Amino acid sequence: MASFSKKNATYSTTLLKSSSLPDTAPEIPKKKEIPEGLWEKCKKCDEIIFTKQKEEELCLCPKCGFHYQLSAERRIQLLTDEGSFRELDADLESVDTLKFTGVTSYVEKLEANKAKTGLKDAVICGDATLNGIPYALGVMDFRFLGASMGAVVGEKITRLIEHATANRLPLVIVTASGGARMYEGMISLMQMAKTSGALERHKEAGLLYIAILTHPTTAGVTASFASLGDIIMAEPEALIGFAGPRVIKDTTQAQLPEGFQTAEFLLKKGMIDRIVDRRKMREELALLLEYFVSGCKVKA
Ligand SMILES: [Zn+2]
Repeated sequence: MASFSKKNATYSTTLLKSSSLPDTAPEIPKKKEIPEGLWEKCKKCDEIIFTKQKEEELCLCPKCGFHYQLSAERRIQLLTDEGSFRELDADLESVDTLKFTGVTSYVEKLEANKAKTGLKDAVICGDATLNGIPYALGVMDFRFLGASMGAVVGEKITRLIEHATANRLPLVIVTASGGARMYEGMISLMQMAKTSGALERHKEAGLLYIAILTHPTTAGVTASFASLGDIIMAEPEALIGFAGPRVIKDTTQAQLPEGFQTAEFLLKKGMIDRIVDRRKMREELALLLEYFVSGCKVKA
């Protein structure tokens, strides 16, 4: 009872204080007056960060360095010589083969994602040079429907691999994906076999394939081209896995180890060869290309 009365007493004092404020007291700015999107709370360190500063610093948290998702355009800028990127199959667009409708239809989803991102689908493919070395590059963009792999993503990646094989180019694919595109049912699952088959022929030609896994890389993409790199790099703390932890836990009835499905855990287990900070990625990729593919250069 004592603490109850004390609480009441404090409450009354507060009321008294606020009612005795002079009329001229400056107004405390209301939360809604702060322009939206200017500041955000870092999901890793909980610090309030200036969104613009984060974006200028390659989408890393200025306080803790957490690697947020980077758009495909900016990733391409980061990993290529200026003006060298030439996009392939830019006009391929998904169609609604299954006439899928849920809360919203697949067609509506596609249109909304195109408008939101300015992209036609979840991957950009092409060729470019880095420090003068030609190579084929595919970059997935998580903003477009969680970079899920449907027929167009699978087809663009496959064509990119075939382009690399035909032109004896090393290949780099930067992955990020929520998995198969459910709106395309079985067609989306077939993309795993298609991309993997094309990679096998690239490998038979003796060519280098580097996979760069970014947060998050999951499901059908992990189970196909993300895991087939001659060298597999990942960004720090990226979530990489097949099924989600809850599904695995329910299926196996086992406790999952700490840090399960993080890049750091998978590095220890040997699935990943190297974790590279985004600020070092360009330098690291250039080094690998120079080191491994001096014999793969094509005529300019
Ligand atoms: Zn942070």
